[in-house]
Amino acid sequence: MKSWVEISERRLATNYRLLTEAASVGMSVLAVVKADAYGHGAAVCAPVLVRAGARWLGVTDAQEGAAVGEALAAAGVAASERPDILVMSGLLAEDADAIVQHRLVPVVWGRQQMEWLADAVDRSGKGLRQRVHLEIDTGMARQGVRADAELKAVLEYLSQHPSLELDGVMTHFASAEVAGSPQTLEQRMRFQQAMREVSAAGLRPAWIHAGNSSTIDNSASPQTDTLVWLRQLAGEYGARAMVRPGLGLYGYCLLIECADCSNDKHAEARVRPGLQPVMTWKTRVIGLREVQAGETVGYNATFVAKQPMRLALLPVGYADGLRRELSAATGIVGGWVMVQGQRAAIVGRVSMNLTVVDVSGITGVAVGDEVVLLGDGVTADDHALLAGTIAYEIVCGVRAPSRLGA
Ligand SMILES: *Cc1c(COP(=O)(O)O)cnc(C)c1O
Repeated sequence: MKSWVEISERRLATNYRLLTEAASVGMSVLAVVKADAYGHGAAVCAPVLVRAGARWLGVTDAQEGAAVGEALAAAGVAASERPDILVMSGLLAEDADAIVQHRLVPVVWGRQQMEWLADAVDRSGKGLRQRVHLEIDTGMARQGVRADAELKAVLEYLSQHPSLELDGVMTHFASAEVAGSPQTLEQRMRFQQAMREVSAAGLRPAWIHAGNSSTIDNSASPQTDTLVWLRQLAGEYGARAMVRPGLGLYGYCLLIECADCSNDKHAEARVRPGLQPVMTWKTRVIGLREVQAGETVGYNATFVAKQPMRLALLPVGYADGLRRELSAATGIVGGWVMVQGQRAAIVGRVSMNLTVVDVSGITGVAVGDEVVLLGDGVTADDHALLAGTIAYEIVCGVRAPSRLGA
């Protein structure tokens, strides 16, 4: 196997617990396992999260939801113990039957989506009520219905179609990692407005949810604490409050930005310091060679050895998610991997399926030795900094089978 991902069950469960504790009493936590658990393997991570106590999981689409349901059954989670699975990123007509059959709970915001679901319920002939969660667009302009005439029409449809049950109302924040964000405050007001209309339409959702990992992390100030606000709002409508962390479960979190801090300062984070990366992405050395001073390494000969070097060849490259921005050239330091717990610098360009690293300073490296591409000593934040992106994109980009590890 060229490379594989080892998941720390202990760290994943601990991160879940830390986030749940930080979200605090009266707040349920939906564990987001979309995008194959952010590249960590949903089939491996979902059972761990359920054993840690998760009663809701979040996925992107019906296919992911069905796969997670099957993975839980295969891992021995009894049907009666199965958590609810929220399909968070919309649906198409062709998904409606799968949603009904696999007992998934879709996020909806338009009449057409609800019609597809109501038709699928009819076709199933089971006289079921299909639960749905309504998304309010409070400022992302992505998914969701605005709190205007459109919302009234959606609520009217729901009131008139008993095959659909409004189980939840939710929204998503655009600037969750910004301390005291005026945009979040604005979004909160719009959501409150929408809740007044939901209530006026006579609908009583069981769940009200909003917020991601950064919403939990960014709750240090009582004035702007969005979780306190959410708990109060849910209380007003006799609903239960829920927050939806994803990245934090896997041990990463954006830094909290603040308007009045200088560039390199960040606002207080509530959970970030305690989170630990869950993924260790590993490969093995497949070749070793010595080069002499003056020899070049890799495509376009961007790297010239200044002295004799011992190089190790790794069978991974950008096709596997090892970003090409980690490439090193003469005079430009790139990324690194961990060999025997020591840094080994990437040498020359990362290619599609191969990467060369410098093991001159590490004794006894042999073909077949394990190498850590991501994990202790080299984090997704390190890769993100070099690649000019965020840890989200780094972990989601890892293409390797995953399994439970140490
Ligand atoms: C992905 C997602 C989340 C989780 O966000 P993180 O930043 O990873 O914690 C929460 N809610 C919705 C609607 C999402 O799509």
